[in-house]
Amino acid sequence: MRVSRYFMPVLKENPAEAQIVSHRYMLRAGMIKQQAAGIYSWLPLGLRVLNRIQQIVHEEQVRAGHIPLLMPTLQPADLWRESGRYDDYGQEMLRIKDRQDREMLYGPTNEEMITDIFRAHVGSYKDLPLTLYHIQWKFRDEMRPRFGVMRGREFLMKDGYNFDVDKAAALHAYNRHMVSYLRTYERMGLTAIPMRADSGPIGGEDTHEFLVLAATGESEVFFDSAVTDLRLGSREVDYDNREDVAAVCKEFTTLYARTDETHDQALFDAIPEERRKVARGIEVGQIFYFGTKYSESMGATVVTADGSKVPVEMGSHGIGVSRLLGAIIEASHDDKGIIWPEGVTPFPVGIVNLKQGDAAADAACEGLYKALKAKSLEALYDDREERAGAKFATMDLIGLPWRITVGPRGLANGVVELTSRRTGVSEEMAPEAAVARIA
Ligand code: ATP
Ligand code: MG
Ligand code: MG
Ligand code: MG
Repeated sequence: MRVSRYFMPVLKENPAEAQIVSHRYMLRAGMIKQQAAGIYSWLPLGLRVLNRIQQIVHEEQVRAGHIPLLMPTLQPADLWRESGRYDDYGQEMLRIKDRQDREMLYGPTNEEMITDIFRAHVGSYKDLPLTLYHIQWKFRDEMRPRFGVMRGREFLMKDGYNFDVDKAAALHAYNRHMVSYLRTYERMGLTAIPMRADSGPIGGEDTHEFLVLAATGESEVFFDSAVTDLRLGSREVDYDNREDVAAVCKEFTTLYARTDETHDQALFDAIPEERRKVARGIEVGQIFYFGTKYSESMGATVVTADGSKVPVEMGSHGIGVSRLLGAIIEASHDDKGIIWPEGVTPFPVGIVNLKQGDAAADAACEGLYKALKAKSLEALYDDREERAGAKFATMDLIGLPWRITVGPRGLANGVVELTSRRTGVSEEMAPEAAVARIA
């Protein structure tokens, strides 16, 4: 992509409405535009990151054996009357009437709808286990939408629902989600700690929230600092093997890590003092096991191997896809701008032409652009007639992992400069060597 032909409305000034760094940088980098309180347009640069995050979420769900579908944003109120949540949900639910005066709502979550799909098509234990998920826009009329995409009213969520024949199978699905989430967040360069949480209005027996530590987080968290060293890494986990999956979950949930709702001071005090941490965190996901709460009220049953009919065991599991952009930036930035982890960056590399119009510099940039493309790397090439300082400031703000700087002086010696956004270290090398380093 050439900057001269792109749409990336970078702001020079700090927008007054942004209170936290991620919101500020997303606005300044031209990633989003607010259209109403908590409702955003995704401008091209923001959309590229959102798409990459979605792609990782999809890949890790499919790897865990979960199946994508797509449910609508609008739902009939009657479905929610069946579970009793239409009245319970309160003002966070956006209620709408169509021209026939039918009551509808913009879905804040999809337990009722997925249960409706299940009961219409599945009736036997032989069709289980089954986990269905989608990535879809949600609406919650939050009391205080703020911090940009972090607490929107319209926001993108991955929500998945497992259906199992008994509790042991449902807990395996819960564990599978935990492992797949750990992988998902790690691929985004994040440390998200599973913390025992409170099940709240969805209601349930077991639940963990995944928290990214950040001073601007809205949750108060208490943990043993050793949990921050745990990594899934590249190890293979067989998602069909209950013991293997459970062992990983045990590793990640044995050390103390809780949100304020479930905090237990006596247990906390038993941790060696230097490892006792009280901090703030951003909730980027949550998993729930809730058993038969919806299947009983909505009549979603299966016939078991011995011929009896039982309500299906369920759980629901969410990832805050659009919130993740904010969380990643809160966790990875400096005073010049964003520092995208490789896994989610909108472009892998930027090319800065120091002297646009100089035949040698232009040709070298074009050559680099094509060589990168041949390796399936789409560069963002700043081909504008701008001062070098302005080009550098833009590149630093939008935070691509690599920058290749091309100018007549370096080219006279056969070199360009390769700079890492994270370390700030620059090295001179031949253009081919820079391409090889990034690829
Ligand atoms: P919160 O405690 O932040 O209000 P929640 O517990 O109500 O979130 P869940 O029902 O668990 O949210 O939804 C799954 C995920 O969706 C959350 O973990 C969070 O990452 C994301 N999410 C929830 N509400 C919002 C919102 N208003 N804006 C952006 N993301 C959100
Ligand atoms: Mg909420
Ligand atoms: Mg919450
Ligand atoms: Mg939650």
